[in-house]
Amino acid sequence: MKAAVLKATRRVAVEDRPLPALRPDEVLVRIRASGICGSDVHGFEGRIFDRRPIGIIMGHEAAGEVHEVGAQVKEFSPGERVAINPLIPCLVCPPCRRGWFHLCDAMVTLGSAMRVFHDGTMCEFAPVPSRQLHRLPEAVSFEEGALVEPASNAVHLLGRVGVELGSVLAVVGTGAIGLIVVQAAKLAGAGKVIAVDINPFRLACAERAGADRIVNAAEEDPVAVIREESGGRGADVAVEAAGTAATYRICLEALAKRGKVAALGFMEPEVSFPMRTLVYREISVIGCTAFSCEIDTTLALIASGRLAVKPLITHTFPLDSVQEAYETAADPKSNSVKVVVRC
Ligand SMILES: [Zn+2]
Ligand SMILES: [Zn+2]
Repeated sequence: MKAAVLKATRRVAVEDRPLPALRPDEVLVRIRASGICGSDVHGFEGRIFDRRPIGIIMGHEAAGEVHEVGAQVKEFSPGERVAINPLIPCLVCPPCRRGWFHLCDAMVTLGSAMRVFHDGTMCEFAPVPSRQLHRLPEAVSFEEGALVEPASNAVHLLGRVGVELGSVLAVVGTGAIGLIVVQAAKLAGAGKVIAVDINPFRLACAERAGADRIVNAAEEDPVAVIREESGGRGADVAVEAAGTAATYRICLEALAKRGKVAALGFMEPEVSFPMRTLVYREISVIGCTAFSCEIDTTLALIASGRLAVKPLITHTFPLDSVQEAYETAADPKSNSVKVVVRC
């Protein structure tokens, strides 16, 4: 089978790999679409060799068709369309036993070598435990199905911080997850959503996604705008989806008293906070990562048309053009949000 393999820094090539063997609890999925995540771009750029080592089959945001089922699999049959949850929990560690599957101490992630090396989904066939599969509703295409993973991240984040009716949300960083947060926050009842970025193309996407106000931080002071747009009070929730010291500072300074930072970004491994702002304003910083049971909710929202992920797919490439796909995703001037590879 054909597979997109990381060969060197800034080089991903299609290789011929043997058809993977199938365990009794697994389904062999004929992958049809696999998206490129920000973490894959970091891998392509050679910045995270621990998680994306040379030789790995890339990809973890994917959808496809059931090709073959293992001996123990009763709930799926060949031909069914499925989305893949790429985070495989152990089910027995303390977080798993509490139902926090996405925080599993022994998590295996498709297309990553974070704890255990595991090949990914940017290939023709991937073996996946059947419990990691979710049926795709008829109205959801394979490309949209590949976006269920980042979209579920956004749904999980909003669940973590909670959105009160009529509240003011600032979304700092409008990549794929940030753009889905903009839409989902409106669905969840936010009164006003303010999107902040320095990329004009992505800000235009945020406006189309329903942002009430967009702020180009290279031209305007985001803190001043957020305060003005919230009647001087500050935002109730600031979603940090960029991950730099500067963007964390914007979030903190733009918040109302008792406001909450939803911390998603981590481009810089450490950032410092003005502690007095945090303490005297009773600010909460809430870490948000991945998702678990939110996938079916997210799929239903996409199927009903209430969450539109299609506009985020700015580029699609065939598997044979995977190098070009990664170059596009890594190029800040390419006006890309989500690049999807058709496998
Ligand atoms: Zn991802
Ligand atoms: Zn576990």
